[in-house]
Amino acid sequence: MFGYFVRKESMWFKPGSQQPYRLSRTRIDNYVKCKRCFWMEERFGVKKPDSFPLTLNIAVDALLKKEFDVHRAAGTPHPMMKSYHIDAIPFAHEKMDEWRHNFTGVQTIHKPTNFSVFGAVDDIWINPQHELIVVDYKATSKESTPTLDGNLGEQYRRQMEVYQWLLRQNGFPVSDTGYFVYVNGRKDVEAFDGKLEFSVHVLPCLGISEWIDPTLLEIKELLMSDTIPPTSVACEYCPYREAAGKTLQRMSARGAVVAGIVAVATPSPAPDVARAVSVKRAKRSIEKDENPTAPMF
Ligand code: SF4
Repeated sequence: MFGYFVRKESMWFKPGSQQPYRLSRTRIDNYVKCKRCFWMEERFGVKKPDSFPLTLNIAVDALLKKEFDVHRAAGTPHPMMKSYHIDAIPFAHEKMDEWRHNFTGVQTIHKPTNFSVFGAVDDIWINPQHELIVVDYKATSKESTPTLDGNLGEQYRRQMEVYQWLLRQNGFPVSDTGYFVYVNGRKDVEAFDGKLEFSVHVLPCLGISEWIDPTLLEIKELLMSDTIPPTSVACEYCPYREAAGKTLQRMSARGAVVAGIVAVATPSPAPDVARAVSVKRAKRSIEKDENPTAPMF
């Protein structure tokens, strides 16, 4: 369900609290992207509006998980691993479901900050040296072959590095190399024909986790501070918020009445258009009734 809400006060960071503060890997990334929005969300629960869920990506993730789980249970490599010459099999562990669940994930208490850091992995493989390999699934649809270039690629690398760090904090040996299983929805096929075709690419990623400890210390320092931190220069929401806020303040100071929220309604058509539409609808329903394959409900 969508709708804007400020996070409950019980979930805000409280400078004097002794309780470990839960910090997901996504929120660590929020800090890296913009300190001010991060601070407002963690200290006062004011978060940016949620975006719509990427339902096709979620479906791809679920199907890939099912596919790899078959090989996890059998202790065999997935054909994709063979074709990319990756000497590994999907890792079987009793906590696998917990590690993949959004609200639990792989967790650790970072003692210097008392943060309970967590992040949900898509998959983990294991190589013959008994090192764990972090794997993340990505779905896209673009003309070019997916890469880890640009801002998005940087964000994906940080994601991989936090997962590697979390598993190491849990005492597992972890390979520096992780993989992105990247599926690309093809637009060069003849027709849709009720199915979307994907090309699959396995992209290696060399993780460097050294930035995580100092970043957590910086985050703690920021959260303890009452100074409003700087904004990111590459975001257009702040100038928008400021312009909207100043306009409302100015109009309100001039005595403008503040109206409540109105539901957005579909505009009513003019009477002659409404008549034409209702004739067409009636005709369509007759045609539907005469169609033996039309669904009943
Ligand atoms: S620039 Fe402003 S709106 Fe954008 S992320 Fe930072 S604080 Fe938030």
